[in-house]
Amino acid sequence: MSSIGKGITSATIGSLLQIHGFSVRIKKMDPYINVDPGTMSPYKHGEVFVMGDGCESDLDFGHYERFTDIKCTAEDVLTTGKIYQKVLKKERLGDYLGSDIQVIPHITDEIKAFIIDGHEDVDFTICEVGGTVGDIEGLPYIEAIRQLTIELGKSRTLCAHLTYLPYMKTSEELKTKPTQHSVKQLQSMGVQPDMILCRCEKSIDNEIKAKISMFCNVKKENVIAAPDAENIYLIPKMYHLASVDRQIYDHFGIPDYDPKGRAENKIKERWGAVEHSIVKPSKTVRIAVVGKYTRMKDAYISVSQAISHGGFANDAKVDVDWVDSRGDLEEIKRRLKDVSGILVPGGFDSNGTEGKIAAIKFARENKIPFLGICLGLQLSVIEACRNLVGIKNATSREFSDNGAFVIDFMQNWEKDGVLESRTQLSGKGETMRLGNYRCKILPGTLAHKVYGSTEITERHRHRFEVNIKEYKEVFEKAGLLFSGMSVDGVLPEIIERCDHPFFIATQAHPEFKSRPFAAHPLFASFIEAAINRDCPIWGVKL
Ligand code: GLN
Repeated sequence: MSSIGKGITSATIGSLLQIHGFSVRIKKMDPYINVDPGTMSPYKHGEVFVMGDGCESDLDFGHYERFTDIKCTAEDVLTTGKIYQKVLKKERLGDYLGSDIQVIPHITDEIKAFIIDGHEDVDFTICEVGGTVGDIEGLPYIEAIRQLTIELGKSRTLCAHLTYLPYMKTSEELKTKPTQHSVKQLQSMGVQPDMILCRCEKSIDNEIKAKISMFCNVKKENVIAAPDAENIYLIPKMYHLASVDRQIYDHFGIPDYDPKGRAENKIKERWGAVEHSIVKPSKTVRIAVVGKYTRMKDAYISVSQAISHGGFANDAKVDVDWVDSRGDLEEIKRRLKDVSGILVPGGFDSNGTEGKIAAIKFARENKIPFLGICLGLQLSVIEACRNLVGIKNATSREFSDNGAFVIDFMQNWEKDGVLESRTQLSGKGETMRLGNYRCKILPGTLAHKVYGSTEITERHRHRFEVNIKEYKEVFEKAGLLFSGMSVDGVLPEIIERCDHPFFIATQAHPEFKSRPFAAHPLFASFIEAAINRDCPIWGVKL
């Protein structure tokens, strides 16, 4: 099933292998027919994770990067749409002249090539298969895995199957039947799992392990309990204690499993401080996130993880109050009264923007620490123009056909010395500013203090920009300080307010670069400001 944690499991295995000194690469194959998830609704599919190279990908890549700190690229993502696009292009070019194109071997060959590609550079490639065993879309992927296990042999492949054991409250027992059935289905397709990771509410005992081992034809030591964890960052240690890493050594015949017992210390080195802040934080702080996808938490997964990381950096537990921006404006303000920080995340279209603008006004007027991300920056500009300069029709071209477009569609800008351009007629998937962009930071500003640098790189995903060309004077009148600009000086990247203890917004998505053991500076200082309620540089106190 989706959401049982295949992504976190792949990421955890990656992290454990790194702890044992191996290099890893993590890839994912998603059987859906979209070319990428860029155009999918966050309500249904959760967040779109943006990689440094601009690839719009599944949120699991966020887990891979956060757990292992490796940088994933477009080469690590495969979807059925992507394969067919490639195969059909080859067909049109005549690469298959004479043959009819079939799922086996043409599609399965592409899948196998994807899994294998680039393996020379690393000790292990971990490849997650999206979807559920038995899905029609997933069949070619399982078939490719069957072929690959034959071609490479067991000594070079390990198939891990993540299953769910439902707990029946009435009879107080964990049921293994769904696991037995999904393994049978895999076996009927020629794939024998080597390891079964059992997701469940509670841990499983030896009896259940023995049963799964017998019915599913898997060594008992390779039946691993994967109970719910209080926090995802406790999972690497949990999997180590459950011997996942030991069994991987065993399977591949790697000698000398952790001879000096160093793994535990290394786990402590990497995850110990995080664990401490999870289990025994010294303080608690309450933050409101005002957005429109608040009912689907996965839609803001990187933002919520980055907020937790900001908490870890301050040894604090962060309680997040998810405020639906589409609600009544008075109700929104009422909810904001008892929080220490307000964050407005990214988003698309005008739905819920008035609620976000009301939240920004509230943060500005009441001097509550504020962090705006992407759309959050654009709305901060609109709010200031409307309420501080009196341009009542200030808006974004994304929301309306008329008004004062303080946020507009920009056609041209430079990236690394090369002119980039887009037109409004290009397809939706092609008009975004995507991936890494460099930004120059004005010395002496809050942004400078936060980043500790005058040049930074952040990931982007947006279509519209601040219209500084036409409204520079208005923005100055509104008290907006542009503390970060694109390197060609054309596009505003960071804004802040000098009359506020901590009011900062970025056109980029810093949440994608935050790590549990290295919180993104914007999140770390936002949480710090929320805890202290004062400003590190302007000296404005509440
Ligand atoms: N919708 C806005 C734009 O496209 C902001 C996007 C975002 O927040 N990621 O420019």
